[in-house]
Amino acid sequence: MSTLRVIRAGARPTKQAPASNFTGTVFSDEVVTGTGPSRMRASVVSFTPGARTFWHSHPVGQTLYCLSGAGRVQKEGEPVQELRPGDVVVIPPDIRHWHGAAPDRLFAHLAMSELNDRGEGTAWFEPVSDSDYAARPAPVT
Ligand code: MN
Repeated sequence: MSTLRVIRAGARPTKQAPASNFTGTVFSDEVVTGTGPSRMRASVVSFTPGARTFWHSHPVGQTLYCLSGAGRVQKEGEPVQELRPGDVVVIPPDIRHWHGAAPDRLFAHLAMSELNDRGEGTAWFEPVSDSDYAARPAPVT
């Protein structure tokens, strides 16, 4: 029999995101790690100023819901964009990109993605260079 579960906030300690995939200090709070047939993955990721992901891609894409602070996102080959609370970022499958905090502000987003039908998740690449990170963001229109 299935039962509704409440996972209490204190039951899952905040984890530090691994230095193998992130630059700077980043914390992650798990929200959902689906069990089959669900492939859902969701977590709240909190970036300290200047912190960001490495370049990476998602096999089924990713949606980011910006919760607080000031953030940045970039698709490879396009300008860096500013992110503000309430913004939603829709990232297509297999697109190289990064996301993180502004240089001088905290930033938190809810990150939502799915594994593909082979069970594969995020593909990680190299760090975002300081010069790529420091590029002036495109004006918000
Ligand atoms: Mn991503």
